Amino acid sequence: MTSWRSVSERLLEAFGPQGWWPAQTLWEVVVGAVLAQGTSWRNAERAIARLRAARLLDPEAMAEAGRSGSEGAELRLLDALRPSGYFRRKADRLLRLAAEVERYGSLAGWLDAAHRLKDEELRRRFLALSGVGPETADSLLLYAAGRPTFVADAYARRIGERLGLLGPGTGYEAARRAALSSWRPSPGAAELAEAHALLVELAKRHCRKREPDCRPCPLLELCPTGSARVGAARGASARPHRRPGRGPG
Ligand code: SF4
Repeated sequence: MTSWRSVSERLLEAFGPQGWWPAQTLWEVVVGAVLAQGTSWRNAERAIARLRAARLLDPEAMAEAGRSGSEGAELRLLDALRPSGYFRRKADRLLRLAAEVERYGSLAGWLDAAHRLKDEELRRRFLALSGVGPETADSLLLYAAGRPTFVADAYARRIGERLGLLGPGTGYEAARRAALSSWRPSPGAAELAEAHALLVELAKRHCRKREPDCRPCPLLELCPTGSARVGAARGASARPHRRPGRGPG
């Protein structure tokens, strides 16, 4: 029977481990958790390298760039983030996070406070940060704090619906809870982090919003939507074509 775990295992076999870059600092993990949303690790990694080159890869420098109000600092930040997509929105989230870290005096202080909280409590704390929605909160929980959660972003929900793992139009929170409660035995953070990366990769390569490319998809055997699409395409190509304009004679 199809399950999120069987999907994740099959994708791992087909695409290989997506891997988290060897982060040099904890802040880099936090930044990565934000930048990797809606894009591949590779694009997030490129943006991180550009942040590093622009000397913006630490919370103080980033908070300063946000505070200075200088157009130059803002442009440098936006330019560095460009490869990660949705870069204006991501810049805004990073600036808010950097300001939050500053309130605790240091990143260590912020994470120290965070590590004392239980998973759901910590999630609520992230959600309470202005500008942080459920997707960013779950990415931070998973990648920065190493807590098990399912990032039920638009890609995961689209794939889940097409596979019949989620009902049509399932919202973010319902999808997250459904995935976590059906994943047996309970997954650890590393498994869920890999699964999220693999689902993003599948959405980019095959399971696009319009015209998914089902025939080469590694999940075709498990997927009722894909099987129906491929079956319909085969049926159409097998049907005999009548020549236009030639009636029975
Ligand atoms: S078979 Fe098609 S619809 Fe199903 S998961 Fe793959 S790309 Fe998406």
